[in-house]
Amino acid sequence: MVSYGDSANSGVLIVTGASRGIGAACARLGARAGYKVVVNYGRSRDAALAVVADIEAAGGRAIAVGADVSKLSEVAHLFAETDRRFGRVTALINNAGIGGAIRPIEEHTEATLNDLFSTNIYSCIHCASAAVRRMSPRHGGKGGVIVNISSAAARLGGIQGMVAYAASKGAVDSFTIGLAKEVGKEGIRVVGIRPGMIATDILEPIGGDELMRETAPTIPIGRVGQPEEIAQAAIWLLSPGASYVHGTTIDVSGGR
Ligand code: NAP
Repeated sequence: MVSYGDSANSGVLIVTGASRGIGAACARLGARAGYKVVVNYGRSRDAALAVVADIEAAGGRAIAVGADVSKLSEVAHLFAETDRRFGRVTALINNAGIGGAIRPIEEHTEATLNDLFSTNIYSCIHCASAAVRRMSPRHGGKGGVIVNISSAAARLGGIQGMVAYAASKGAVDSFTIGLAKEVGKEGIRVVGIRPGMIATDILEPIGGDELMRETAPTIPIGRVGQPEEIAQAAIWLLSPGASYVHGTTIDVSGGR
């Protein structure tokens, strides 16, 4: 097991979309690294409570807070609950995301695009904005780290029917670069991760197990990834060991 060199870690970590998949893995590993963890969920309250129960059973501290992070008012609630129950956030993993409607570009509607872009990029901007208000010395904060979960699709253009998804993740990468320039001198590090194909529920609408079986041989490492492999990278990026990693997005994609 990796040691993060910060056993006295008393930080407060918010993970958006932590009821399952990559977010749940980040929440569990974050708690093991010593963070008090806010397990955000959109719809899956029971699953989020199960993540909290796992963390508590392992001796960690966590709370579940429901908030649709695509909506500014609900993000305000998420951060207010965090302030009230754990204090100022010091680490944020912007993980919540959806694949959106799978279709050729000419079949997208304003509604499908609004859903995709509000969930995948507005959420990052809303949450980062609330975090900066708590991390920046301009607002009485002491710095922090923000990790944005992008996708290899930002680089590859997305698989068939997912061009708009890829574009929403390209926006996440641009946001990471720009925000790093805006707040880096205030003690806030901003970084991103581009996961490759990871075995989670998000793949169900595009073929799930069958898609993973077909794709595995095309991935240089010869297999799809597991959520814990993204969590390892995310928790390292939050740690002092990554103190000079800033304004960049790392690929954790098995070479994809
Ligand atoms: P997942 O298993 O489907 O989990 C998505 C999580 O996001 C769920 O916990 C869901 O919670 C939450 N969520 C969705 N919309 C939300 C909203 N509006 N507000 C709050 N929470 C919301 O997917 P995953 O694979 O772990 O994906 C996590 C991130 O990794 C996403 O940003 C995704 O784009 C990215 N990614 C995944 C892959 C992959 O192959 N798996 C590859 C590249 C990038 P509720 O059910 O509670 O709403």
